[in-house]
This record gives sequence, structure tokens and C-alpha cells, in this order.
Amino acid sequence: MKNDNCIFCKIAAGEIPSATIYEDDDFRVILDIEPASKGHALILPKEHYANLYELPEELATKVLVVAKKIVGAMTEVLGCDGYNVLQNNGEAAGQTVFHFHMHVIPRFVDDGQVIGWKPGSPSAEELDAVLKELV
Ligand code: AMP
Ligand code: ZN
Repeated sequence: MKNDNCIFCKIAAGEIPSATIYEDDDFRVILDIEPASKGHALILPKEHYANLYELPEELATKVLVVAKKIVGAMTEVLGCDGYNVLQNNGEAAGQTVFHFHMHVIPRFVDDGQVIGWKPGSPSAEELDAVLKELV
């Protein structure tokens, strides 16, 4: 399934050129054009799924195996000191391209990059209420 208006569908299909560092039957891995660090890569499924909720389980399983290959290259070739593997789902969560993608961001000591969130401080009762909602 492709979406005619989706730039990542076109990139994943090879219709728009990209800096591809890995490809298999299900995924293309490209370098991000506005990288958070040297080697920042995006894992794109070749089929269009807007987010993790829509991604079939089979691809959800495979995408982490691809991420593992990429972090191997980043560690061995780029010599990164760590990496962040993350993905954003929905505008509220910072997603800007609505074709599922997983970011693999090599990190270097003192790279000055900031990736994170503001920690909350719920009471024990509030945590318990959330637990009861979810189980
Ligand atoms: P997100 O905010 O999680 O949806 O991430 C979208 C990412 O896609 C951003 O890091 C962009 O820099 C990147 N991006 C957008 N367009 C392109 C493109 N044509 N080629 C490579 N990366 C892109
Ligand atoms: Zn798409």
C-alpha cells in the first residue's frame, strides 16, 4: 500500500533519490536531511503505515532487527559512544512526516544534543490510578 502524497513512500520506493545506507525487501534506511548528529538515520518501511499503531506486528518485529544492524554500523564504523532509537507518533508527539519511521541517532560524548522530556512528579495515588486504568 502506497500513499501518493507521502514523501517517505516515494523515497522508500526509490522514486526520490535518498542517501540510502541499507535496504531489504521491507525497509529502506536513509540519512536524515536535518540530522541531530553525524549518521542520524531513518528506518522507513516500504509500505505506507502512518504510525506504530497502524504498523503490522510482523513489520514491528522486523524493524528492531534492522535498528540493531544500523547501531552495529554506527558503533563499529562511526565509533559512536551511544545511540538513541526512537520514533514519534502523532503531531502531539512531534511526528512531522506521517509515514512510520524509526530514528537511529548516534551519540557522541559532549555532542551537545538534547533529546528528552521534562520528568513529572505524580503522587503514589496518581500512579496507582494510572495503573488501574491500564491493567
Ligand atoms: P519526525 O519529526 O519524527 O516525523 O521526523 C521526521 C524526520 O524526517 C526529521 O528528522 C526530518 O529531518 C526528516 N526528513 C524530512 N524529509 C526528509 C527527506 N526528504 N529526506 C531525509 N529526511 C527527511
Ligand atoms: Zn508513506
